[in-house]
Amino acid sequence: MRLSQFHLNTVKEVPADAEIVSHQLMLRAGMLRKLAAGIYTWTPLGLRVLRKVEAIVREEMNRAGAIELLMPSIQPRELWEETGRWQKFGGQLLKIRDRKDQEYCYGPTHEEVITDFARNELKSYRQLPINFFQIQTKFRDEIRPRFGVMRAREFLMKDAYSFHLTPECLAREYQNMYDAYTRIFTRLGLRFRAVQADTGAIGGSASHEFSVLADSGEDAIAFSSASGYAANVEMAEALAPGARAAPAEALQRVATPTQKTCAEVAALLGVDLARTVKSIALVSESGFVLALLRGDHLLNEIKLAKLPGLAEFRLANEAEIVEHLGSEPGFIGPREPRKAITLVADRSVAAMADFVIGANAVGYHLRGVNWGRDLPEPDHVADIRNVQAGDAAADGSGALQIARGIEVGHVFQLGQKYAAAMGAQVLDAQGKAQTPFMGCYGIGVSRIVAAAIEQNHDAAGIRWPRAMAPWQVAICVINPKSVAAVDQAAAALYAELQGCGIEVVLDDRGLRSGAMFADIELIGIPQRVVISERGLATGQLEYRRRDAADSEMLNKEQLMTRIR
Ligand code: ATP
Ligand code: MG
Ligand code: MG
Ligand code: MG
Repeated sequence: MRLSQFHLNTVKEVPADAEIVSHQLMLRAGMLRKLAAGIYTWTPLGLRVLRKVEAIVREEMNRAGAIELLMPSIQPRELWEETGRWQKFGGQLLKIRDRKDQEYCYGPTHEEVITDFARNELKSYRQLPINFFQIQTKFRDEIRPRFGVMRAREFLMKDAYSFHLTPECLAREYQNMYDAYTRIFTRLGLRFRAVQADTGAIGGSASHEFSVLADSGEDAIAFSSASGYAANVEMAEALAPGARAAPAEALQRVATPTQKTCAEVAALLGVDLARTVKSIALVSESGFVLALLRGDHLLNEIKLAKLPGLAEFRLANEAEIVEHLGSEPGFIGPREPRKAITLVADRSVAAMADFVIGANAVGYHLRGVNWGRDLPEPDHVADIRNVQAGDAAADGSGALQIARGIEVGHVFQLGQKYAAAMGAQVLDAQGKAQTPFMGCYGIGVSRIVAAAIEQNHDAAGIRWPRAMAPWQVAICVINPKSVAAVDQAAAALYAELQGCGIEVVLDDRGLRSGAMFADIELIGIPQRVVISERGLATGQLEYRRRDAADSEMLNKEQLMTRIR
């Protein structure tokens, strides 16, 4: 590519709402442009990187034996009614009406569509096991879209769904996908961990998240270097010895709504208020529900800046919460039984309602608080946090370390939940109808681009891992228009590198060298060759790796062996 014929548009200023470095650099490098909250255009430069990630994901999914298809992003309400998720999915589901007043959603995920496909297509055990995948745009109406494509509303996901006759077969495919994910993130050049995750509201029996390690990550993960044990903090807390729960008698169905002070409710629950955020609904003065119970879908995206004081929030009633969620809130809880308590706070007043969930599973109300993100880091940390660095790992292998991470992938054994709800069945070898077991496997393709930058940048800009770089080599031409020999040498080197199959970009825009080098560093090209009149005079080319402190003067042969 000749940059003079490309559309590269780097910028100096970044909007104040770009809080983390990847978002800032993607805007400065001109990879992204914002159209609306959480909705972005990928510029030609950004798209080159996105496609690299996509290609590696696709290659490894194919290698692992998954089969690509493409499902619609617009999905009819009726399908989602079959699984109950039209109501239960909550505010992230973008609902749409057509001219005939038929209702649809823009797919945030595709369990319903694939299960519908499967019940029509898969009739016999001979067709199993099978794993279908797609790479497709999703929409989730995130409460707080932020960090650019890291937490967008419209984003690109690879999602795969497998079908099996037995749970053992599902477990094998789960491992196969786990291994494929490990290859994908390794090839992408990312530092990551696979961590045990809670199966939470979706249900199912096993789940791992793949987390790219980065201080800006929204998730906390606990791991033991001694054994390789790793879990997200929610899971580590669930497994931790001594996780405490509210006494069962405090969680019986109570009349609606009973007004009590926060202190009274806390006393009744036998817990510290700060520990019970999972079972609290908070509503701001404007009526916006700030936090509700189960973290995954709501709490995670919210900063409860005011806890444990709660003074800024007012009472929410059930109707408001239902309206906000578009559904009964009972689904949010991860486990049965769900009869429990919702706390809604208002200047030290709390209401106890007879719906919702939460703290009635052992340890549950202690779990999932992401300190520093969901709540301000308390100064009495030891008092509040259930799992912290230095605690014994659940597998007894030694002391836990805590790191922050970005969830870039998620594998899940769903079991029979969707197939059963939607009546998907296959005949086994005896001719008997069986409900298949399902797994689902997601990768945040667009989020990976941002996550990679969080891990790979310096003061000058992005430092792409090789596999993600938009080009491997930039040829920077000093005064291309005025010195014919320079122009010719650059064109010859450009053609030669292209001939060797190396992705090369020729910066023939005629910028001053300072501005040109700054752009090339900002957009993160791993290798740079400078062609100048002075260098040509001595038969030397200036070569520099993006991560090297200095450049080297090389002759042509040396250069060709150095470039990769
Ligand atoms: P998160 O916990 O970050 O909200 P999730 O658990 O809701 O993610 P999954 O349903 O597991 O997401 O979807 C699979 C993958 O899609 C995630 O691992 C993540 O990489 C990506 N993803 C999810 N939500 C977003 C988003 N809003 N923007 C970009 N990528 C996302
Ligand atoms: Mg998650
Ligand atoms: Mg989410
Ligand atoms: Mg997930």
